[in-house]
Amino acid sequence: MRINIVGAGAMGSLFGGLLAESGNQVFLIDIWKEHVDAINNKGLWIEGLSGNRFVKIEASTKNEEIQGKPDLIVIFVKSYHTEEAANKLLPIIGENTSLLTLQNGLGNTEILSKIYGKEKVIAGTTSFGATILGPGKVLHAGTGPTAIGELDGKLTTRIKDIAEVLNQSGIKTEINQNVLGLIWSKLVINVGINALGVLMRVKNGEIVKGEFSPKIQRALVEEAVQVAKKKGIKLIHEDMLNEVISICKKTENNINSMLQDVIRKRKTEIDFINGAIVKEGEMVNIPTPFNKMITELIRAIEEKYEKQINI
Ligand code: NAD
Repeated sequence: MRINIVGAGAMGSLFGGLLAESGNQVFLIDIWKEHVDAINNKGLWIEGLSGNRFVKIEASTKNEEIQGKPDLIVIFVKSYHTEEAANKLLPIIGENTSLLTLQNGLGNTEILSKIYGKEKVIAGTTSFGATILGPGKVLHAGTGPTAIGELDGKLTTRIKDIAEVLNQSGIKTEINQNVLGLIWSKLVINVGINALGVLMRVKNGEIVKGEFSPKIQRALVEEAVQVAKKKGIKLIHEDMLNEVISICKKTENNINSMLQDVIRKRKTEIDFINGAIVKEGEMVNIPTPFNKMITELIRAIEEKYEKQINI
């Protein structure tokens, strides 16, 4: 399959590398020139769970530089860059090109659908984990299930083909006919872990310990579940709080991605996670005071990156 990865950071590089190794024709597109140059000059270095090696793969900073139209474009920019990245895709979208988002947070499928039409878009979630180590270098840090589906739940030939290609690349993938429920369930998990981990600067396992943190986690998750239910979303776990707690325990040594962003003083995806619950809550008249407060606290932290004191 001919696949373009847009946003070849941690996840885009890892997925691109794995897909290229299994024989697909893969192009990486990223605005980070140093990274693109390193990949073109030396290859993409992947280390970690799937082994240490260079993968030969082409990369570019511009969509226009890539000839032909791909069968699939995988979007792996951060959610706050989706709109900007999506708007630049027109030159590489052909009649039979599908757009897949496996990003975290809410709103990515909506942005892509608004620009290119719902029928072009497929979505999903992944439990793979990756970290950029430097230009041209990525760490394969976590492996777990990936699920994809059509927005209308249909079992189409293209969704089966794409799942097969992912599976052949070692990315264990299932087709899910409730993709909205899937995205919302991952959202609720991120709602209960990411920002809270940031505020306390702790790994996932610590979040569920002690007197206060579990109480805040419960409130954040309950608000999100209420919003989802009011919207008629069928979450994939019966007891979401229990699921969130269990994930914190299973990944007790993980530094969640929002905390990694804050440690590096980078913009976070807060507006697409807890902030999305607030926005969606307002639309269906469900109050979300805990999510509102935590969203504003994270925004305040971002605003003060350059004023932080280092003791
Ligand atoms: P990242 O910051 O490592 O990579 C994003 C890349 O997008 C960067 O290299 C950036 O230069 C590039 N970019 C920005 N604007 C662009 C544009 N207009 N065109 C092309 N490239 C552009 O982020 P990541 O950690 O790989 O995360 C990507 C998405 O996947 C996020 O939504 C994240 O929540 C989700 N996710 C991440 C992980 C993980 O372990 N890292 C796991 C699951 C899901």
